[in-house]
Amino acid sequence: MSLYVASINSGSNGNCYYVGNGTDAVLVDVGISCREVIKRMQRAGLSIQSVKAIFISHEHSDHIRGLRVLSTKYNIPVYINEATIRGGSLYLDSVLIRPFEHAQNISVGELLVTPFRKEHDAADPYSFNISGNGITVGVYTDIGCACQNVVNYFKECHAVFLEANYDEEMLENGPYPFYLKKRISSNKGHLSNAQALELFKNHRSAFLSHVFLSHLSKENNSPQLVKQLFQEQAGDIKIAVASRDNESEVHCISADGLEGNCVVKQGNSENRDASKATTKPALHPKQTSLF
Ligand SMILES: [Zn+2]
Ligand SMILES: [Zn+2]
Repeated sequence: MSLYVASINSGSNGNCYYVGNGTDAVLVDVGISCREVIKRMQRAGLSIQSVKAIFISHEHSDHIRGLRVLSTKYNIPVYINEATIRGGSLYLDSVLIRPFEHAQNISVGELLVTPFRKEHDAADPYSFNISGNGITVGVYTDIGCACQNVVNYFKECHAVFLEANYDEEMLENGPYPFYLKKRISSNKGHLSNAQALELFKNHRSAFLSHVFLSHLSKENNSPQLVKQLFQEQAGDIKIAVASRDNESEVHCISADGLEGNCVVKQGNSENRDASKATTKPALHPKQTSLF
């Protein structure tokens, strides 16, 4: 019993995250072009036909850039609030708009999505926990601080896309103007490596198996540095950095934390285990993999 996750892009140049159970999937944010989302999903073996809903965290352009075209072209419902639509000057087909509330449990096929409020300098910002098959995956980017909501929902996660935006020293000594440094490091800006690490060290569940470090600053962070920082505290937990330039591989999150126990490919006779047959999702005709 697993969920499949991938970052389609992560960073201030665009965010898009995929979480699915093999049959149904959701995207959180569409901050790169529709065309690029489709290209990258195809490369990763993920089908847009599996995406039954899009959830939007807030109106900053790196989270909504490709939303209108993607949702319209593929007729995908968009969970987004009025203030976010207004703040982003978005023109969406009204039949696709689904408003939501804090802590509401939203069913998307067999998935359950729970939005929760967080601190960020946007009109009405949310992060999301997505659950299915007994697994919970969090998408936590654009977080000014680890507020009580973040802490509480983080404790439920088997896997998380966790913002580690900047190294405090690099930001301090870097080229950004003072006002921008202040904005980024404020309680309504972004989570630093140290803040993300504190959350990870103090509030992770015993079953957290994967951390995908996300929304890294190009100027004020280094993937190697932040990965090393987490790795030192991670034990058996898998640490990966979500790229600013490419899609990630598709990770399979299972209750025992072992990716090897996930059924990753259809059509492979080694995986044709009768006990798993009922959990195998249907394939889109042209797909070579599950997603
Ligand atoms: Zn952002
Ligand atoms: Zn933002």
